[in-house]
Amino acid sequence: MLGQMMHMPLTVGSLIDHAARFHTKGEIVSVETAGGIENTTWGQVGANAHRLASALRKLGLSEGARCGTIAWNNRRHLEIYFGVAGGGFVCHTINPRMGPEQMVYVINHAEDQVLFIDGTFVPAAGQLAPALKHTKHIVMLGPRDEAAAKAVPGLLFFDELLETGDASEPWPEIDENAASSLCYTSGTTGDPKGVLYSHRSTVLHSIAGNQPDGLAISAMDTVLPVVPMFHVNAWGVPYVAAATGCKLVLPGPNLDGTSLVNLIDSSETTLALGVPTIWMGLLAALEETGSKMPSLKRTVVGGSALPPSMIPKFAEYGVDLIHAWGMTETSPLGSLNQLLQRHTKLSAKEQAEIRLGQGRPPYGVDLRVLDENGNELPHDGETQGDLQIRGPWIVDTYFGKDASALTADGWFDTGDVATIDEEGFMVIRDRSKDIIKSGGEWISTVTLENIAISHPAIANAAAIAALHEKWDERPVLVAIKSGEVSEEDLLAFYKGKVESWQIPDRVIFVEELPIGSTGKVQKNKLREAHGKVLLGA
Ligand code: ADP
Repeated sequence: MLGQMMHMPLTVGSLIDHAARFHTKGEIVSVETAGGIENTTWGQVGANAHRLASALRKLGLSEGARCGTIAWNNRRHLEIYFGVAGGGFVCHTINPRMGPEQMVYVINHAEDQVLFIDGTFVPAAGQLAPALKHTKHIVMLGPRDEAAAKAVPGLLFFDELLETGDASEPWPEIDENAASSLCYTSGTTGDPKGVLYSHRSTVLHSIAGNQPDGLAISAMDTVLPVVPMFHVNAWGVPYVAAATGCKLVLPGPNLDGTSLVNLIDSSETTLALGVPTIWMGLLAALEETGSKMPSLKRTVVGGSALPPSMIPKFAEYGVDLIHAWGMTETSPLGSLNQLLQRHTKLSAKEQAEIRLGQGRPPYGVDLRVLDENGNELPHDGETQGDLQIRGPWIVDTYFGKDASALTADGWFDTGDVATIDEEGFMVIRDRSKDIIKSGGEWISTVTLENIAISHPAIANAAAIAALHEKWDERPVLVAIKSGEVSEEDLLAFYKGKVESWQIPDRVIFVEELPIGSTGKVQKNKLREAHGKVLLGA
């Protein structure tokens, strides 16, 4: 033999052990579901994670058993992330905003043996329990609560369960390719599909996604994942946080703008992550509270397109906005927008234009765009096509399915339409099912929405394809007013900003837009409601 390096499997347990050992006093701030703030440390979370794994083994769980969670971002949920995966089980995070039918479907489909629930979800769990086929134990996150015990027969309590575990029990030996967590897509069409992450994919995603041109989290940071822990593992932030030992702030159930501003100020958050709708609420609250958020330096925004007006608004508070793109199927980090050295010479406006795109892939991710016949398109920043992705943290096969989810040559088709330029800067033009196909030409709904939202009297807007007798589809804008504006005014506002044939045919003003379980506008619902307004007109 010529010599050899050690083989150490890349496991989720190793992340928390690192944090507990080398960032023992690193702080964790947790807003509790029952109210109040709890302060703990990486050392404590590490010990409790080992305790939990030991307790679950005593409950009789065997390797690979799935444990569901219906919970907010808090300290106990963090201990479950690491204790369940570290112990060789699989942490299945469930989106509480799913309807009860979908929840029962995913819990049964995943065959969750244990279900961890926050106090908020005790009534829901009581109703779901009879329909759950594989769930042997429901555990409420907290100390014993007599009222909850009455509502759900046989309910266990997290704090009591922990006491049965042994903090000194080491992790079992785990193959890095074994599953560590499971998350279902939001299932806007058909049943939700499960994406099963491995220990290896999770660790690689954390390391590669956190490079200096990625999330760039360090031990000097105080990080607030507003993105829920049930939304693609809070974009991997809990794992990155453990790897870096940063201070972690978990916001609990209250995600309104005022609660977030107060939490950012009191915890001195330096980096916060969330979807655009969350930041819209935060910006509104800033105007009301008068806070200047002196500690906050960066926000990462993703999940849906970043409205252009947000960049200058955050800049007023000295906060850089980092736009990121990803999906449940991509762990989720697929691209992140950080500028290159030569961009520093550009004006603030030119920099903002680049920042509006979805950015470049980190090492490990490969991207390409294809035409409808499967031919690869040039990376020229203009030619748009179907975006495909591959890499070690991208799905291969959905949970419980036999068939691969990939193309014949091993890529995952994202369902997004994008352009990529010669330096790899990618821009999502639309979702392929949302894009408007007008007489053979494509119109981006994202472009039409961004223009509408930049109008001072428009609070929010969504563009949809409405059926049209001559052109097949034409754009219709569904908008919420924040001031006085007529349909004619708003349509006139588009002149000179897009080609005349791209201007919407109609504007429909509404009081609110349907928002799905992950904070995105549900355009399929809007198409159902307004997709025929142009027929017979
Ligand atoms: P979710 O649980 O957020 O719905 P999905 O995996 O269903 O997760 O959503 C992924 C989709 O969200 C992407 O395919 C893309 O259409 C959209 N998306 C995510 N990030 C962005 C972004 N930064 N800009 C535009 N669209 C985005």
